[in-house]
Amino acid sequence: MKTPFVTLEQLQALSERFPTPYHLYDERGIRENVRALKAAFAWNAGFREYFAVKATPNPAIMRILHKEGCGMDCSSLTELMLCEKIGVSGDDIMFSSNDTPAEDYQLAAKLGATINLDDITHIEFFEKTVGAFPEKICCRYNPGGNFEISNKIMDSPADAKYGMTKPQVFQAFRLLREKGVKEFGIHAFLASNVTEDDYYPELAMQLFRLAAELKAETGVHIGFINLSGGIGIPYRPGQQAPDIDRVGEGVRRVFEQILLPAGMEDVALYTELGRYLLGSHGCMVTKVLHKKHIHKDYIGVDACACDLLRPAMYGAYHHITVMGKEMLPADHLYDVTGGLCENNDKFAVDRWLPEVDIGDFLVIHDTGAHGHSMGYNYNGKLRGAEVLLCEGGGAKLIRRAETPEDYFATLEL
Ligand SMILES: *Cc1c(COP(=O)(O)O)cnc(C)c1O
Repeated sequence: MKTPFVTLEQLQALSERFPTPYHLYDERGIRENVRALKAAFAWNAGFREYFAVKATPNPAIMRILHKEGCGMDCSSLTELMLCEKIGVSGDDIMFSSNDTPAEDYQLAAKLGATINLDDITHIEFFEKTVGAFPEKICCRYNPGGNFEISNKIMDSPADAKYGMTKPQVFQAFRLLREKGVKEFGIHAFLASNVTEDDYYPELAMQLFRLAAELKAETGVHIGFINLSGGIGIPYRPGQQAPDIDRVGEGVRRVFEQILLPAGMEDVALYTELGRYLLGSHGCMVTKVLHKKHIHKDYIGVDACACDLLRPAMYGAYHHITVMGKEMLPADHLYDVTGGLCENNDKFAVDRWLPEVDIGDFLVIHDTGAHGHSMGYNYNGKLRGAEVLLCEGGGAKLIRRAETPEDYFATLEL
């Protein structure tokens, strides 16, 4: 069973201020989670989490994480601007993008961000469009093949558009050193939403080996290794959550095995987690508008895929709690749908729930990352608000709902 971090009574109280649908975030859960992550990697003096802004690009959330010591991982111009607006710059920003426009690199360089080059050709592109290189730079690595943990294929880097091949990384480091770069980092993102505790240790093993080879063959100073994002969360009830202490210990073992003998004990480890940090600490609150009985039973809610795309896009599972009916038997089979003119606009298909009534609050779990941020405006739908459940009690609006004026703002009428 999955229990929401909010009660029906709280939702009823909130409904006077915040009309559904909206995404709700749990400040306490977020803070506890980031502290646990930092504790798990405290053995590495330079450890730092750079929150993947794209997961939840909200200044209130970013400020909480920044106060907890996190940097920000940006991948676009506006994400960089968002950092600038809340006073985050310099070493507090990692810029990990691909197919990067010139103005994105220009702003990243102006802000003093640590830039992660996605391709060898970006060295020339950067020089032409920005100018001299900063003293510190990172290159993104793509080993190709399959990424496996215990003989189980998690993803296929060979089919991924990101990063440089191994020979390209060597070539890039040599070139960049000639151009005055003094400190290097390597980065790889090889699988997504992995809940197995061996994910980071396996990724770390590949990156640490590469780092040791790079140091031995080129003599460059490798200052940091960025394990990127990809740690998953248990979207399904009964699924095991990653044990972050075990993950940290696993990485430490590999560090001691590979980097210590290579004389690289000063290497800082970075992470760029989005989903793991925020996913479980946000949910979407929506209300039942209609019940429809045709060849199947449908529950129509006031949210749609424009508020939460993952089920429609990936067939992703998001658990649903019918608030106030947690103790009733789940003996009704429903599809839970939004109102888009697209038949994939379903938050759940063939889901057993207690009998649902019009006006019920549904909590759609685990929308804290890649939830609101993946929203869009198809069918003229307007995205809902974001609300923060504050640590000290109470709630505050951290992004208002869109209005028709927002929708029309970009049009020539
Ligand atoms: C999306 C992304 C992340 C975060 O991924 P999660 O799966 O949310 O942890 C980190 N780094 C980069 C470069 C990304 O594109």
